[in-house]
Amino acid sequence: MKKESEKELDEYIASSVKDAEELLEKLCTIPAPSGYEDERAAFIKNWLDDIGAEGVYIDEAKNVVFPVAFENGNGLVCFEAHTDTVFPAPTPLNYVRDGDKLLCPGIGDDTANLVNMLMTLRFIVTRKIKPRRGVIFVANSCEEGLGNLKGTKRIFSDYAGRIERFFSFDGDYNRIYTECVGSHRYRIELKTEGGHSWGHFGNTNAITELSKLIVKLSQIPLPVKDGKKTTFNVGVIGGGTSVNTIAQNAFALYEYRSDDADSLHLMKERFYETLLAFKNETKAEVSVELVGDRPCGEAKDKLLQEEMINRAVKICEETSGLECKRISGSTDCNVPLSLGVAAICPGLILGGGAHTREEWIYSDSIKVGMKIGAKIILDYFEL
Ligand SMILES: [Zn+2]
Repeated sequence: MKKESEKELDEYIASSVKDAEELLEKLCTIPAPSGYEDERAAFIKNWLDDIGAEGVYIDEAKNVVFPVAFENGNGLVCFEAHTDTVFPAPTPLNYVRDGDKLLCPGIGDDTANLVNMLMTLRFIVTRKIKPRRGVIFVANSCEEGLGNLKGTKRIFSDYAGRIERFFSFDGDYNRIYTECVGSHRYRIELKTEGGHSWGHFGNTNAITELSKLIVKLSQIPLPVKDGKKTTFNVGVIGGGTSVNTIAQNAFALYEYRSDDADSLHLMKERFYETLLAFKNETKAEVSVELVGDRPCGEAKDKLLQEEMINRAVKICEETSGLECKRISGSTDCNVPLSLGVAAICPGLILGGGAHTREEWIYSDSIKVGMKIGAKIILDYFEL
């Protein structure tokens, strides 16, 4: 970036903090649980139309998509920040300023990141800055939990084979997601005839049978691979009717995770083997439903991936003065990485309490994050 462009950007950022805070408050108070992002999506599309962005559309997955330039159809760069939050509709979305902090459920994950991406978009659109190659900006849906990355999956299906580099802005600027953790999540349900605990003693008990299955699932040997990690968890159980009823039904939510695609695959095989063997032993009726599917993988072009990481880390550290740690996690990058596309997830805010009602960010971090986002994005624009 040229000296005078950098100066213009700094002036823009200094004069945009107030607008960013207003937009943040507005967006934070529009409920957007995964799958129900309609109102936020409509608001963002209007906002983009108002600043003069052309060709913005909302797709079937409720992504707001802004394709910037497409003369050369491949090698696209995609920038995303997600609109959805983990909070169900009735959650009160109170936006509060407390000293140097701003608080609201969903503020850091991911609304403030989204706002900082939108602020750079306004800089680009109002100054008619040309991209060096095709760029797509997406305010995407369904990043969280059982949203199962539906928004990003949709982008990679609509633009199949055309995206070369992917950036998701999510989380804090003192860390960067460079590797992804994939997971499969299941609801396992057992049904039996049940009965009276005295009168029908001896009938099969769904809770007892589920307990046996959980023990077996916990004995599945984990794949061992250098530098890779695989885990499993039974997170929720339920079922039964009363203390004197032989349980007719019982269920468990079970997941396994790995930062290695082969290990994830192996866990899937072992899970189904265990389940089938158990089915042959038990009198209970066993059913299983896949409720979560987050793929994982690695970029095919390792050099490109490394180049993107190094550049983003440099920008984060130089701008914030903080160390930027490389970490792995489950983010929208899971989708591109599972397809071999280079993808990283830097953050544009600093805060805490993600996924709690006490979620907060440092208000000062908006300005720092806006600059980080702008520098990462503007690498792909003529300045
Ligand atoms: Zn997030």
